[in-house]
Amino acid sequence: MTVRPYPLFLYATKRLLAMMDPSDPARDKITSEHTTTSFGYRGEVRADRYLKRSLMPAGSIILHDLHLTIPGHETVQIDTLILAKSVAYVLEVKNIYGVLELEENPARLKRTGSDGKIHYFGSPLIQLNLAIDTLSYWLFMHDISLPVKGAVILASKNLDVRFPTDVPVHLVTEIPSLLNKELTGNAAVTEQALRWTADVMKKQEERFFPYPLAPYFNVAAKSLSEDPLCNQCTGRILCDDTNRLGTCLSCGTRQWIPFIKKLVDYFLIRGSTLNIEQAQVYLGVSATKAKKLLRSPLFIKRGKSVAIYYQLNYSAVIFNEEGELIIPDSSVEIFMKR
Ligand SMILES: [Zn+2]
Repeated sequence: MTVRPYPLFLYATKRLLAMMDPSDPARDKITSEHTTTSFGYRGEVRADRYLKRSLMPAGSIILHDLHLTIPGHETVQIDTLILAKSVAYVLEVKNIYGVLELEENPARLKRTGSDGKIHYFGSPLIQLNLAIDTLSYWLFMHDISLPVKGAVILASKNLDVRFPTDVPVHLVTEIPSLLNKELTGNAAVTEQALRWTADVMKKQEERFFPYPLAPYFNVAAKSLSEDPLCNQCTGRILCDDTNRLGTCLSCGTRQWIPFIKKLVDYFLIRGSTLNIEQAQVYLGVSATKAKKLLRSPLFIKRGKSVAIYYQLNYSAVIFNEEGELIIPDSSVEIFMKR
């Protein structure tokens, strides 16, 4: 089973917020989207832990965070899809705490917090059914005769669920027993057909791509702080005159200027291309240094001779479980320390 990747959107919005003016009117929207993504991701990671403890039938394939599109319809996002030979099983993970009740007409989820505050969410059952319908139609179009089922998984620890017992809603801890029951049926397709299905689904994916974030959120790039961000706490770094070392204004950590991360920030937040001259100005370094930094596998060189420019190599942008960017070429960092 592949590990669910840390969301790029979570990393990029955190850094954008750290660079923004505290009074910027776009802050609330960005903060709210960051928080929603963060809650969702943590819920899915929790569900994944129970998924790992579940016994899967041989040949099963698990796909995380799948975006499925049928021409003429909206894209449906599926948190977890288990492709087994007997069934395609959708897990719609919700990380919402408090007292939860399902309401009808209109169908929605009511949450009452410990402070008595009431909040409404879209009905997770409607989302689940939409995912099941879209997936069924997708499989039908591709001539794969696999039945589709699914369940809503509640991932929060602080829950008081007041649902009718006949709805497919389960706690995260029930995943192993649920799958043990649901995935054991007669094989409808071969293992080969499952692998083909998973490959085509991944190839066809239309990804949510809001980068660079500043124009996406209508934030003027000029209003953003150009200080590099701290490796420890994402605070702003005050650079020494030599522009090699600096001190974090939030946590006080002395550190080498994280030039590579600052370059990645450029592409995620400010603009999609950068040439050597622009990189020099943005980083405050020599042309030689800018060229060496841009040689990292994180960036792709495009164009020829005088028209050379660089873009972010998104497939090389990966994070550890704590959401820290993994810098693939350490020789660049060694160069910086000399
Ligand atoms: Zn810091």
